[in-house]
Amino acid sequence: MKNCNEIKSIMFSEQQIQERIEQMAKQIAVDYAGRRPLVIGVLKGAWIFVADLLRSLELPADVDFICASSYGGGTTTTGELTLLKDITMDCRRRDVLLVEDIIDSGITLSRLKDMMIERKAKSVNIVTLLSKPSRRKVDVDVKYVGFEIPDEFVVGYGMDYDERFRTLNYIGVLKEEVYK
Ligand code: 5GP
Repeated sequence: MKNCNEIKSIMFSEQQIQERIEQMAKQIAVDYAGRRPLVIGVLKGAWIFVADLLRSLELPADVDFICASSYGGGTTTTGELTLLKDITMDCRRRDVLLVEDIIDSGITLSRLKDMMIERKAKSVNIVTLLSKPSRRKVDVDVKYVGFEIPDEFVVGYGMDYDERFRTLNYIGVLKEEVYK
């Protein structure tokens, strides 16, 4: 989906996103040279990012998905993490890369990281396309960040508001009336 009249402003264009992903993929390929990471995408928001990142990544990698939610359909976190879908691959002794669309409070990623460490992953690093540092509630070490953004609710490129806008090619901010 390219056009949407419910978007107030475009934060990152398709081209800006792709250029940044290329840079991130290059850095990951250097850091993981000679290894075969297990990439775990956090559903649903990270599905497009995972697809683009892995196609840019000049490394063999396995891929799986996990679905965890700390949101109930609105725009604020509840702090409760619910595991809705687990990975099907064994992460023991694997170099795990947790791939997220956006880190807000940090609760989701810090819990998922702990979970993978408890399951005996060899290493666990976090990749996120977007980060809102001003919203952090827990300290979580994020190794790869695409863009740091202000405290605004964004949609598109996999990210939703009430399951809408995920298929926008860019990342944008919604008009206020959409929330009413
Ligand atoms: P955290 O656990 O870091 O608070 O929340 C991470 C999750 O919150 C993300 O995976 C995403 O689903 C959701 N989230 C946080 N901020 C935004 C935002 O600005 N837009 C959208 N669409 N989702 C967000």
